[in-house]
Amino acid sequence: MQIYQGRQGKYYVINGIKYDEHFPQKWAVDHMKGTDDFCYEVGPEVCFNCRYYGKIRGVFVGYCINCADEYNFKRGNGFGFKQTQEEMWESLDYMKDVKLCQIGDLVETRRLRKKKIPKKIIEDRVIFIISFILIVLSIYLNLIK
Ligand SMILES: [Zn+2]
Repeated sequence: MQIYQGRQGKYYVINGIKYDEHFPQKWAVDHMKGTDDFCYEVGPEVCFNCRYYGKIRGVFVGYCINCADEYNFKRGNGFGFKQTQEEMWESLDYMKDVKLCQIGDLVETRRLRKKKIPKKIIEDRVIFIISFILIVLSIYLNLIK
């Protein structure tokens, strides 16, 4: 399995999903598949919770709580929906000696990105404010007549 050097940590890729190098490879290639009478499938390829909660900086480190439950928590405690990722990642056995800053593949910038408001919206707002003032003014002028 080829290991890549990410921005923060090392990872490997299976079916387009980045896995932290410490995530057991035998699990990554063998997520539970649905059966005829039970069609729940687990893992980041099919589970949105895994993809959202199980990743740190774009790299998968552990199953979400639902999928972990499917394995009776033999593949980790799972990432809960209320705990922070930091709390959960620390409880994963295979991630024990890995620092949080050594996980992931994401460019992090110190500056908070400011949302730029498009010019058109600014113009619309100015027009709205001016027309609001004119309406209030005309009502006022009508009242003092
Ligand atoms: Zn899941």
